[in-house]
Amino acid sequence: MLKLKLSKDAILLVIIEASVKKFETINRKLQQQLYRDIVTGLYNRKFLLKRGDALLNEGYNTLAVIDVRNLRAYNEIFGHDTTDKILRKIAEKIKELCSDTCIIGSLDAGRFWLLSSIDDIEREEIAKKSIENIIKHLTTEELRVNINDEDLIILIALSAGIAFYPEHGKNIAELLRAAEIAADRAKAEKINTYSVFDITYKKLIEENIWIEEQLRKAIKGGKIEKQIYPVFQIKVNPSTEKITGVEVLMRWRLYPQIYRIINVAEKTGLINDLFKILIRQAIPYMREALKINPDIHFGFNISPYQLALKDDLLEALDLFIEEKCEVEKVELEITESELLKNIDAEQILNTLTEKGFKLIIDDFGKGYSSFDRIKRWNIHGVKIDKSLIDDIPEGVKRYGKTYKGFLFLKNLTEFLKNMNYKITFEGIEDEFTVNLVKELGIDEVQGYYYAKPVDGNRFIECLKNWEEERRCFPLQG
Ligand code: C2E
Ligand code: CA
Ligand code: CA
Repeated sequence: MLKLKLSKDAILLVIIEASVKKFETINRKLQQQLYRDIVTGLYNRKFLLKRGDALLNEGYNTLAVIDVRNLRAYNEIFGHDTTDKILRKIAEKIKELCSDTCIIGSLDAGRFWLLSSIDDIEREEIAKKSIENIIKHLTTEELRVNINDEDLIILIALSAGIAFYPEHGKNIAELLRAAEIAADRAKAEKINTYSVFDITYKKLIEENIWIEEQLRKAIKGGKIEKQIYPVFQIKVNPSTEKITGVEVLMRWRLYPQIYRIINVAEKTGLINDLFKILIRQAIPYMREALKINPDIHFGFNISPYQLALKDDLLEALDLFIEEKCEVEKVELEITESELLKNIDAEQILNTLTEKGFKLIIDDFGKGYSSFDRIKRWNIHGVKIDKSLIDDIPEGVKRYGKTYKGFLFLKNLTEFLKNMNYKITFEGIEDEFTVNLVKELGIDEVQGYYYAKPVDGNRFIECLKNWEEERRCFPLQG
């Protein structure tokens, strides 16, 4: 019998080899866990980003993102365990509905990705049909989840986005970003729908990134004071044609459409920084204006995002007090919005009125006007949104004063008058409309018929010449 005599070194080698094997197995398991979603067991975002480029090279060319929108509600009512069960159920269902060539994975909190290879000139149509099919089944079929020995029927609300390789992204990271953008867009539209990534949307996002970078750079480098400036749009009493006030609007030298800047500044928390600069720049013109016409008031816009950042907002508004401006001449135009539900708006608005500012509801009649909230606030006036006025001239010309839009405006005005609110109409562009709204006995109008937004110097000039000119437009253009 051959006796195997192992040297010490050989034994050590065997032990090392065994350890390496064990280590490799553990490592493989860890890797698997790293690339798997803990709840659904599906591949995760990391997997997609790590392996995705190789898969694109292999012929995968269509990426969809499915976003389960009402998961948070289930989470709040039933807790994590149930939500996890629901997610697993949805994952199973998507797997069932997906074609053989489709790889599916989880992204994060209730979102899934589907990567498929569609080799057909009708690729877009096929991809859309397949997503439509998934949405249809998931939102109409009864999904049952067992909770505490009872079958709970789950109703699901979804939105989805689709992006194609290579058109919408030249690698997996870009493609995923595009599909997520498309899903967000579908979410903004309506429930249980999808959208295909749109290249113009990408441009919009790139531009927003550029705006944010430029704003941050200017704030950091102290250049912002030179870039942000106010323009002034005069408001007029339509019966007397006397100036009642002026809206102070923000402008940025680097980009013309201010609402785009406001949007980015709101989302990035920079809005109150810009507001502070606007106030500082406007104050000298306000002083000058009050010397010419002591009766006018100054409207400044405040968005719900600004209210949410209460301390920053108060700091900005305190500039009026520090500079000894007459605070009661300042009207804060606040847009009613769903967002106000999430913050303690009432408390902040009370602080503002206690300081002496007047509150105006801006864009009234558009979107989310809630009478319930308004009645609880200490409101000075209401500015009727342009959209309620736009169709009035055409309607009245065609149907006379019984035109529904006009009757609506008349009754709304009556109601607001009875509530003792100051009433402003905005977007008044022609004489016909001025005469119509004059009949309603409102306090002031704002619009291109009388005045356009002008820079500070022109504004002061307009105030001086108002009796003769009764209009105020920029000198050039
Ligand atoms: P807004 O508060 O509804 O302001 C009125 C907008 O309508 C202004 O646009 C004004 O130039 C325009 N406008 C006035 N009269 C007429 C008219 O007769 N016809 C038409 N078609 N438009 C008219 P602007 O200056 O581009 O501002 C757009 C929006 O950006 C504002 O809408 C406001 O929501 C926001 N915004 C402007 N400045 C500020 C600011 O300092 N802070 C905040 N938070 N938002 C601001
Ligand atoms: Ca406004
Ligand atoms: Ca408006």
